[in-house]
Amino acid sequence: MFDLVIRGGSVVGPERAERADLGVTDGVIAAVSAPGEALEGQIDIDATDRLVLPGLVDAHAHIPGYILSHRFDDFRTATSAAALGGVTTVMLMPTDDPRTATADYFDRKRHSGEGQSLVDFAIQALIGPKTEQAVVEEMAARGAVSFELFLAYGGTPEFIIGNDDYELQRLMQLVHDVGGIVGVTPHSATLIAKLTALQKESQEDYRRLESSRRVDRSERVEPPNPVELFALTRPTLSEALGIARACTVASETGTRIHLRALSSRRSIEMVRRFRDAVALSSEVMSHHLLFTDCDAVRFGPYGIIVPPLRTAAERDALRKAVKAAEIDMAVSDHSPALREDKELGWADIWQTPPGMPGLQTLFHSMLTLVDDGVLTLSDVVRVCAERPAACFGLYPRKGALLKGSDADIVILDTRQSMLIDDQCQQSKANYTTLKGRLVKGRIDSVYLRGELVAQDGQIVSRPTGRFVRP
Ligand SMILES: [Zn+2]
Repeated sequence: MFDLVIRGGSVVGPERAERADLGVTDGVIAAVSAPGEALEGQIDIDATDRLVLPGLVDAHAHIPGYILSHRFDDFRTATSAAALGGVTTVMLMPTDDPRTATADYFDRKRHSGEGQSLVDFAIQALIGPKTEQAVVEEMAARGAVSFELFLAYGGTPEFIIGNDDYELQRLMQLVHDVGGIVGVTPHSATLIAKLTALQKESQEDYRRLESSRRVDRSERVEPPNPVELFALTRPTLSEALGIARACTVASETGTRIHLRALSSRRSIEMVRRFRDAVALSSEVMSHHLLFTDCDAVRFGPYGIIVPPLRTAAERDALRKAVKAAEIDMAVSDHSPALREDKELGWADIWQTPPGMPGLQTLFHSMLTLVDDGVLTLSDVVRVCAERPAACFGLYPRKGALLKGSDADIVILDTRQSMLIDDQCQQSKANYTTLKGRLVKGRIDSVYLRGELVAQDGQIVSRPTGRFVRP
């Protein structure tokens, strides 16, 4: 007798979907059997005509776990969003309070999550020019899933590597020595700094032109679009320079690296060139698979993310690379700036905190790509469950529906559609750039280690999320 049996559904794996019944005992999948075999469960769920998928694994989310700031999500709001969106494991980027740069902060984040998280979570560590060997070793011993390096932006200024190749090499070596993975947020600090100054100057030039025009009554010139100006500060060259530098150093130290937020053809090409020399994996944000620079202009400050939304040609190249498994995974980069902070950007785009919420809509973003024939549901399982779990050492406990895997399960009804709106968003950032999209497929229920967490768009459990480590 199993604790839970899910029968009659079509189980979607990274290669194909197959009719199968699942038996769950003690939160773990204890049997995967052909339909019709008599599995008996204390709870018996009929999933006929529905799809059964592994819970999604999001390798990039910004969730603070300690200081419950008004500005960003806490564990409860962010992981409610995750659970409703079918994400059952989140990896926490280290940039948010408490910045996970010491063993003490690592512990605080873990303990805070254990009381408040509705889904399982792994913790990513922050390293920078001040990080000592002992700190890397302590965070590795605690189960850091990655060690994050920021070459040009992200985190706090004292953690930015900038042009310091000595530090880049030292840190890569330290992480190599503890057998860890370096997460690299690429780009060129000097290029971004100079281009940002130039774009701000061009805005000033326009203001001066406007005031003189009022005097000489010459013809009005259209102002530069601030969202476009922002995008010019982080060109694809900046991204490629960072990737090349990180890969070059990693090939020297032998460190495994994970490249964050690829957004261009040039970056895909760079990954291709270095793949033989470096043990690397890479990701793309779901936003870059869905939206373009035109959407960004339409969204105004809500379209400001880093790296910026690119052209349709870049987006199409990213889609192809995901389909071809050249990019390993799609992530949410859940960055829940509050509406009131995003609104500041209408008056001054440089005041807008970059980023979009995305935990609750990651799966739906991917389902729109399935609707459009870009990906199959098996591709979605590969890039949003199997690969992120595998690249960070959590597979097959997470990211799979195999015998012995955690029973993290999403039941999806593709006979129904779902209209995405702002009202249902659980994040404190109570908006979504997917607003108004009708997506084919509605999440029926979400299980975390065999326990029902979300059903029919409602959270139905208390926080039972656990810390997971590689
Ligand atoms: Zn991020």
